[in-house]
Amino acid sequence: MTVPASSDPLPAPDRRIPPDQAEKKEVLFHGFPASPGICRGRALVFGSAHTDFNEIEPIPIEPSQVESEIAHFQAAIEKTKSEIKALQAKMQKTVEKRDAKIFDAHLLIVEDKLLHKEVISRIRDKLCNAQSSFLLTIERYIKAISGAGDSYLTERAADLRDIANRFLRNLGGDADGGLSLSNLPENTVVIAHDLTPSDTAMLDRKNILGFAIETGSRTCHTSILARSLRIPAVVGMRNIAGKIANGDEVIVDGFLGMVVRNPSRDTLAFYKEKISRKDELYNSLLKDSSRAAETTDGYRIKLCANIEGADDLEQVFRCGAEGIGLFRTEYLFMNTQTPPDEETQYGIYVKVLRAMRGRAVTIRTVDLGGDKLDPASASAIREPNPFLGLRAIRLCHEKPQIIRTQLRALLRAGAEGDLRIMFPMVSSLCEIEELLAIRDEIIEDLKRENIPFDPKVKFGAMIEIPSAALIADALAAKVDFFSIGSNDLVQYTLAVDRLNERVAYLYRPSHPAVMELVRLTVQAAKKHRIPVCVCGEIAADPRFTPILLGMGVLELSMGASAIAEIRGVIRKISMLDSERLAKIALTAEDPEDVMTLAKEHIQSVAPDIASILG
Ligand code: PEP
Ligand code: MG
Repeated sequence: MTVPASSDPLPAPDRRIPPDQAEKKEVLFHGFPASPGICRGRALVFGSAHTDFNEIEPIPIEPSQVESEIAHFQAAIEKTKSEIKALQAKMQKTVEKRDAKIFDAHLLIVEDKLLHKEVISRIRDKLCNAQSSFLLTIERYIKAISGAGDSYLTERAADLRDIANRFLRNLGGDADGGLSLSNLPENTVVIAHDLTPSDTAMLDRKNILGFAIETGSRTCHTSILARSLRIPAVVGMRNIAGKIANGDEVIVDGFLGMVVRNPSRDTLAFYKEKISRKDELYNSLLKDSSRAAETTDGYRIKLCANIEGADDLEQVFRCGAEGIGLFRTEYLFMNTQTPPDEETQYGIYVKVLRAMRGRAVTIRTVDLGGDKLDPASASAIREPNPFLGLRAIRLCHEKPQIIRTQLRALLRAGAEGDLRIMFPMVSSLCEIEELLAIRDEIIEDLKRENIPFDPKVKFGAMIEIPSAALIADALAAKVDFFSIGSNDLVQYTLAVDRLNERVAYLYRPSHPAVMELVRLTVQAAKKHRIPVCVCGEIAADPRFTPILLGMGVLELSMGASAIAEIRGVIRKISMLDSERLAKIALTAEDPEDVMTLAKEHIQSVAPDIASILG
């Protein structure tokens, strides 16, 4: 968690309190947690001066000014390019490599020859100045891609706005109204309508304590960077920028997704206490990282980590994970010009397997599509419902080479450790049969070519679509293990888009329909004597731990930072009580009843962890 570097967990912001501060009442604003941690500081409001791309007017010039405006444009492009490159180099030292690659996309846009041509011909033919020519061109691009109703492209539109604002500054305009994100006053909490990835990257690390923005989802680039930089952050806050003024005292609670303006004495005392308790608890839980996750009546639970690349391994070792339960390989395919070839993939998989020294590593075949599109296919495939479209193993039908190359690399890498290969988005038996037939063909090829591989690699299916849970019995006969992807299972069971904050109130993992599908999956796995893991977000939520165990789930996989807490819960609960709890939960009719049950139980067995959850 992020706490200010002082012995007092919530030091008072040391800038002068504005004269009207005393009259302001405490106000709570709710959004979505984007990056965990709590901070208290003075608000600095950005964003009101950001360019409104719907209101760009052409600014006329004289024919004699054409050449100087073109030169002006080209100089600003060069300056923008070198700034992005410098930013990228800086980020490569402080964040994950794949996160720094966000700027590759920015560079591609700035270097786009078609864009240059359009801007220059606007200056020359329409006699518009460089600034309005550039903005009118960008506006056209933004309109074209934001109208596609595709979350990936919407985020690309955010990249375009980001570049336009940067470019504007380099042309002499000032999109930030004179404020500089890279040189902030002490103890600053940034409040903004939007912070683009490059805004986030240039934030003054010494003085920024946290931020809250009106836009964004947990999966947008800005949230990803905030987590990488370990800055508490809240996103998706409605109209916060207009209700908080520069200098207001604010608390950002990145755990609960909340901002408090002008916190009362009671609130301050509450947060002070919460921060010290959380630190104390987290440090003591980490001390247990070499101990087994064993219930009080002796049941061993396997706790594994979810990773997105080899860069995540350090944290995996620190938290004492027993293996990798989910390696989301699609991140290897995103933000690159060409998909990684067999050798590149083989190298990465071998690196992870060797580093894990014989511990199980479950690698998921690529889950592109939905909100995770690779840039190369983004323009080619525009689907009306990406989450119901050509996602994950379905790509096999249009791009069979992607899965073939990956399976070949994986089977070869299998010789270097305990590898399990997992297929995402399985909805029917025939899909598994088809994939296993491809596997058999690749095995024959490898044998013929005398290339070493592991013929005994285990193959599993993700259960994340209701139909897969309902035919789990048939699927279990074909595969070696199951892994329940609760994030998608909830989305597809309840028909609630997992990215859409407007229907987030209906996204309920505790829904009895979801519980029943988990039960069916576990029952089928038990019948066929295959292991079943849960690797979606509920595996990282301590409130669900007893219910999952009670249903017979003995393997959980989650982001590495959650492992200490979940181990702590497991060491305090019994399997007997968990089974009783699961039985009651499975008879509930309402998500709220299941949640109340789960909360009351965790409160009684692990009050310290429950109190942090709020
Ligand atoms: C899931 O759906 O629960 C899951 C683990 O996969 P992802 O979040 O990558 O879709
Ligand atoms: Mg999924």
